[in-house]
Amino acid sequence: MKKSIVLMAAAAILAVGCKNNNENTNQNDTTMNAQKEAVGQFQAYQLDGFKLHVYNSNDVMFDASYIIEGQDGLVVMEYPLFKVNAAEFAEYIKALGKPVVTDITDYHLGGSDQLPIVMPEGMPQFIEGPIYGGMMKGFAEQFGETMVDLPTQQATEVPFGSTQQYAGVDFRFDRGAASDFPGSMILIGSQVCYTHWAPYQMHMSPLQLGSKEAIDAELAATKAELATGAKYFIGGHGGLVEKPAVEARIAYLECLKKLRAEKKDANAFAEALKAAYPDMPGDIAPLAEALYK
Ligand SMILES: [Zn+2]
Repeated sequence: MKKSIVLMAAAAILAVGCKNNNENTNQNDTTMNAQKEAVGQFQAYQLDGFKLHVYNSNDVMFDASYIIEGQDGLVVMEYPLFKVNAAEFAEYIKALGKPVVTDITDYHLGGSDQLPIVMPEGMPQFIEGPIYGGMMKGFAEQFGETMVDLPTQQATEVPFGSTQQYAGVDFRFDRGAASDFPGSMILIGSQVCYTHWAPYQMHMSPLQLGSKEAIDAELAATKAELATGAKYFIGGHGGLVEKPAVEARIAYLECLKKLRAEKKDANAFAEALKAAYPDMPGDIAPLAEALYK
């Protein structure tokens, strides 16, 4: 665990942290019913013109993957990284009985080695670069055989500000939070808004909010998400949330900004944040530290 904290801290410097944990098999043995020991959970949502399938992996980083089911085909997003999740995901896809037309990989490269891959602008270079490469090497050392073989095929790069159609559904690609480059904001069928991190109700991770400057960047990005008018908001971390969660995240970020301007040090900030959000889960100390470094 210590190794994983060090790894997370290293990734946090560049706000790149992603997959982290694979202890979920044991963790979930107690929560699953005896009939079938599933690792993650699927939930489906019917939208106008397509169906959205959400797969929550149940790891500590709340990694989530998605399937957009069009009339005649499927689009998968953020394919799971760990074998146990990837196998479950593949089995679910098979049961849907439609071909996968493309895999959209934003931040989370996973087990999509047999699929045509699409990435937002800047992501292919980023994945080949030292930051992402170093992180994946760290994961490989830490998790070894539990991880899938990463895809090596060439990805098609999609420019920001463009709309692509896959499986009969429009995907509008825009840039995500400036502090999380090359993270994107992808609007699916005008009804579902994807970003690297969904605005779930928890103190923000320093992997997402790694500096004082990132507060404004995340604030702008979250307001842009809300402005899409989407019904559902999804992320590579955090699964699916609805509009009130996005509004709550904006209020939270505004609170962070105010407290960061008012408080002299990380301790005073942490105390004030705890008083403002006494019931919110998550770790305040590492966030406070990141905002005052
Ligand atoms: Zn991530």
